[in-house]
Amino acid sequence: MNDWKNCFVCIKCNTKFSLDEPRWKCNCGGLLDICFKPAFPMDKIKNRKPGMWRYREAVPIENDKCIISLGEGFTPILEIEIAGKQVLVKQEHLFPSGSYKDRGASVLISKINDLGIKHVVEDSSGNAGAAIAAYCAAAGIGCDIYVPADTSYAKLSQVQSYGANLFKIPGSREDTAAAVLKAAQSTYYASHSWNPFFFHGTKTFAFEVSEQLDWNAPDTVILPAGNGTLLLGASIGFNELHDAGIIKKIPRLIAVQAEHCAPLFNKTQSQSLPFKKTIAEGIAIAEPVRGPQMIDAVKKSSGFFITVSEDEIEKALFNIHRKGFYIEPTSAAVIAGVQKYLTEWGTNNNETVVSAFTGHGLKKSASISFNE
Ligand SMILES: *Cc1c(COP(=O)(O)O)cnc(C)c1O
Ligand SMILES: [Zn+2]
Repeated sequence: MNDWKNCFVCIKCNTKFSLDEPRWKCNCGGLLDICFKPAFPMDKIKNRKPGMWRYREAVPIENDKCIISLGEGFTPILEIEIAGKQVLVKQEHLFPSGSYKDRGASVLISKINDLGIKHVVEDSSGNAGAAIAAYCAAAGIGCDIYVPADTSYAKLSQVQSYGANLFKIPGSREDTAAAVLKAAQSTYYASHSWNPFFFHGTKTFAFEVSEQLDWNAPDTVILPAGNGTLLLGASIGFNELHDAGIIKKIPRLIAVQAEHCAPLFNKTQSQSLPFKKTIAEGIAIAEPVRGPQMIDAVKKSSGFFITVSEDEIEKALFNIHRKGFYIEPTSAAVIAGVQKYLTEWGTNNNETVVSAFTGHGLKKSASISFNE
């Protein structure tokens, strides 16, 4: 009998499954989480090279030999002045494929490699697809990436350069999701929103932030809220550190959505902002599958959702570029959120605020100069 120490668990019906099964959802259709008790052997961690795999014992991958790494993680954290305050901004655009999605891809593709799966499908508005394509290339695993037809040229070209098959789906982001779900009936779905292994990669963001603050939790962490891969990953990571007695509190999570696509803001604030096109394409997710979990994580941390206008995003993009950082518009939406938070809610000067540059500007080069 399995003692279910490490397992998948359905968040809807509580059924448990072995992590050796090639599965990404429950038979009931519910989302899966992973039950797993991480370990943080501090003396080992501090002697390892800077990268996300330095927290090896905190990642639910058993077999060392299956790990697919491109040297990702342990990104610098820099103090940057925003709205007259010092904010610690983690340089998550400095990943091998140009976004923090590599954290999730490295762990998920390592697991897929361990399972012996040779071909996967994934859908993305760009960066998750690029990350999965990069790690599949490194692993020698074939992949089909489904994207909305109007995704940035630079992202599509990146996905194809890694050798992935690109499927451009006309219509909305939801049409793309529907197309990949059909494909996923016969091929393993390496989904950054469904697959819980992805979140056990993005959680290393929280480990790194804490270690970079001498194993302390910041007061406030401001992150994007599209599908919640970084938001939920950070929540898992900070909770694991807290449960292990390493940090004394869970930071307050502030989740940023574009005013033009704000489903979770609408739900939590009883608003009904209409859906429109936004330049923050990476967070233009009208129906995030883990939406209820995202709301739960934010509320439990005593945080809340905020929105930013197109104008605020463009201004933040301009300001950050002029400080010497090259980020994409979706990434600027988060910084616009930081600006708004500090202006309207910031509590005191001693508050430690952490945020992130989520994606590299080269992803959007063709249209950045056009927008400005
Ligand atoms: C994916 C992504 C986001 C948003 O992340 P979600 O997981 O959808 O919440 C923000 N910025 C960039 C650059 C991204 O690639
Ligand atoms: Zn279930």
